[in-house]
Amino acid sequence: MSVSKALIKELLNESDCSHNKTKKSSCDKPKPGNTSGGCAYEGAQISLFPYADTVHLVHGPHTCLGASWETRASLTSFEGESSTPLGYCTNITAQDIIFGGDKKLSEAIEYVVVKKHPKAVFVYETCVTAMIGDNIDHICKKSWEKFGIPIVPIHTPGFVGGKNLGSRLASESILNFLIGTKEPESIHEFGINLIGDYNVTGDMWQYRSILEKIGIKIVSTLSGDGRIDEICQAHRAKLNVIVCAKSLITLCRKMQERYQIPYVSVSFYGKRDTSNAILSIVNALGSHEMIEKAKAVIKEEEKKLETKLEPYKKILDGKKAILNTGGNKSWSIASALQDIGLNVVATSINKSTEEDIEMAKKYVSILFKNPSSDQPKLIDEHGIEILLAGGRSLYTAIKKKIAFVDVNQEKKRSYGAYNGLVNLAEDVCAALLNPVFKLVGKRAPWEN
Ligand code: SF4
Repeated sequence: MSVSKALIKELLNESDCSHNKTKKSSCDKPKPGNTSGGCAYEGAQISLFPYADTVHLVHGPHTCLGASWETRASLTSFEGESSTPLGYCTNITAQDIIFGGDKKLSEAIEYVVVKKHPKAVFVYETCVTAMIGDNIDHICKKSWEKFGIPIVPIHTPGFVGGKNLGSRLASESILNFLIGTKEPESIHEFGINLIGDYNVTGDMWQYRSILEKIGIKIVSTLSGDGRIDEICQAHRAKLNVIVCAKSLITLCRKMQERYQIPYVSVSFYGKRDTSNAILSIVNALGSHEMIEKAKAVIKEEEKKLETKLEPYKKILDGKKAILNTGGNKSWSIASALQDIGLNVVATSINKSTEEDIEMAKKYVSILFKNPSSDQPKLIDEHGIEILLAGGRSLYTAIKKKIAFVDVNQEKKRSYGAYNGLVNLAEDVCAALLNPVFKLVGKRAPWEN
């Protein structure tokens, strides 16, 4: 199943994305050569790397491996040696481009299977190996037969498009090669799959225990703290829950068609959205008793949360903030910031889907598209006191002498669900009270 034009077209015109219902648009049009926001291979790598019991073998030059390797702190509870941080690569050279890299790939698969005993091997196709025409499908099939563990080709050469498309292509491989290949010992009445949460800094762990307390079983995850055995049984869940990742909507639609599993889309950032997410899940599962239990748990958790937030809210109340993270976080993090008392004046809708933009409008009145030019202007015009963004925006905050907190995937602490919101409040307070942002932008004493 190499990547075909028809598959790319299908993934980009996903019928379940609301904007594709109203106009002939694509979610993420490929722009050959333009991979500045991350290529398809990087998107696949980010989506699947959290499977720590799997070897992720990049078939390409080692520079591809470095593109997004270890950029996210996706935590795992896997007790064996986690294969993710090791970074396996066939390291294709000019010689392989001339003579082909098939043999090298076969040998690399054998090496990792024999030495590391993984549950599966994911083989990522990159630009170079797609162009020289290595027969990855055939090698994976033969190796699967030889070693008796899934050897899964992930066809994501970077030139086909951006990260979002790569994530969709990766989920196609998971659907076609793994889901439905193993039967569970028993089928849980309220089993769910968590789709699209990569457990960055442990976000998933913040709400997983709450769902379990209500009586929900997590059948599998794609892919935060994920296990291969579990994803193979995902077809026996009763509900798919997409957590802030619209790129995996095609997977959920196809699972609905193939296995009659409905899906809901939720966010676990902020108090309101966490409570709404829990209610959406239990409502979809349809047990009256469970809905009542969920309401009681939410009430108890919200009460505990408000007590913990009280001292922070005294500092944060009404402070003006600007958010530059884009995508679905344009609204989900905005909602969390409002829940801790901040006045979110503007949010970036860079890389947001039209659905995200509609959501963002509900939370914030100013939406901006070009952070490099709009952000400094908005900070001056509105007297912004704190900027929440990805690491690259730190310099804007320093130049403008305002506080800064990194809320992108490079963040160091979990901001998910109720307990994560307390972490967020703590970090925002620490930044606002930290004098360094005002001092660091000043001239050195000897320059005066
Ligand atoms: S797959 Fe292609 S675009 Fe992506 S990092 Fe490798 S060479 Fe660059």
